[in-house]
Amino acid sequence: MSLDINQIRGLFPVLHQEVHGKPLIYFDNAATTQKPLGVLDALANYYRLDNSNIHRGAHALADRATRYYEETREAVQQFIGAKESAEIIFTKGTTESINLVAKTFGRKFIGSGEEIIISTLEHHSNIVPWQMLCEETGAILKIIPINDAGEIIFEEFEKLLSPKTKLVSIVHASNALGTINPVKKVIEAAHAVGAKVLLDGAQSTSHLEIDVQELDCDFLAFSAHKLYGPTGLGVLYGKREVLEAMPPFLGGGEMIKEVTFEKTTYNDIPFKFEAGTPNIADVIAFKAALDFIKSLGKPAIKAHEDGLLAHANELLNDIKGFIPIGTAAEKVSVLSFNINGMHPFDVGQMLDAKGIAVRTGHHCTQPLMKRFGIEGTVRASFSVYNTKSEIEKLAEGIAQIARFKNK
Ligand code: PMP
Repeated sequence: MSLDINQIRGLFPVLHQEVHGKPLIYFDNAATTQKPLGVLDALANYYRLDNSNIHRGAHALADRATRYYEETREAVQQFIGAKESAEIIFTKGTTESINLVAKTFGRKFIGSGEEIIISTLEHHSNIVPWQMLCEETGAILKIIPINDAGEIIFEEFEKLLSPKTKLVSIVHASNALGTINPVKKVIEAAHAVGAKVLLDGAQSTSHLEIDVQELDCDFLAFSAHKLYGPTGLGVLYGKREVLEAMPPFLGGGEMIKEVTFEKTTYNDIPFKFEAGTPNIADVIAFKAALDFIKSLGKPAIKAHEDGLLAHANELLNDIKGFIPIGTAAEKVSVLSFNINGMHPFDVGQMLDAKGIAVRTGHHCTQPLMKRFGIEGTVRASFSVYNTKSEIEKLAEGIAQIARFKNK
């Protein structure tokens, strides 16, 4: 069933404004999505009615806040098909989730000379934590190469795998190009050599149906703010047995069972990994974002976004000077491109003057940009509230800009 986009747009107050005297067209969704009313209301209601610290309170407000907080954990569990809610850890975002794994699992289970595999497509947050770990432990980082379309070369990945491989940490969908990686195959191949697999789901969770049990990934990291939820909140999913074997990340309140000056015993998962007062309001509001997605259904969201991407490709591919970057067969709704003879930043500024918000630059994927021999791209990324007529305005804008330099 197709979605009523006008009705959906009505739920997003931020979309109904002008910038530079033009109606806003928001195509920076891969950076962060806008937030529906349900999320805004949940945030305000928490502070207005329920504000309280969770888990230890002996009063009604604390009980209520705890219940709401834990209800979000259950909603996340369902959202990704985890076996139990204890496998869901709240973090600050994908970045913190990956760092958590590097600093705990990595330090304990990946030794000198052992190997971690990532791909050329990775965001810096799935590169730097592993480089830091390698510096600390003497582990070795291996990189899966990609083809000119921006897809990993699977045979090259298979060649990198060996009994020395302890972890494969790979992006599910690329933020810079949109490429969807064949993660099921990656996980099977990695498990065959005894390696664990972390999926960076920052860009996939908003577009693709995800079932961690079916995929059999060991970890999944993602951010609420790319899923119509608040900023500064993320999730680390881990299989129970893996999380239990890992040492804690941060030490402090909440993550302990008992503390004496001689010795501390740690709490059970997920609390072992949630030291201190967490981001209560944002966790509670995140449930409204998940409810929003559920009410539409991911297949309908994906179908709408695929339609937008196809429409954009149709309109743009004939424009003289338009250079698409990343032409993978399987993509989420990310359109990365350059215009011949122009710096991406200048293109972004010219689109901004037309009210069209895109992102320009390296998208925190400098090694990927280097692979394509470019400094950066212009990226338009589409979401459920975008329309075909907005795509047409983008295409008109790009055609006008391209004409300057490509007569
Ligand atoms: N990985 C990917 C693929 C991303 O797109 C992003 C956000 N741009 C991140 C990781 C980091 O997410 P966050 O900044 O929310 O921690």
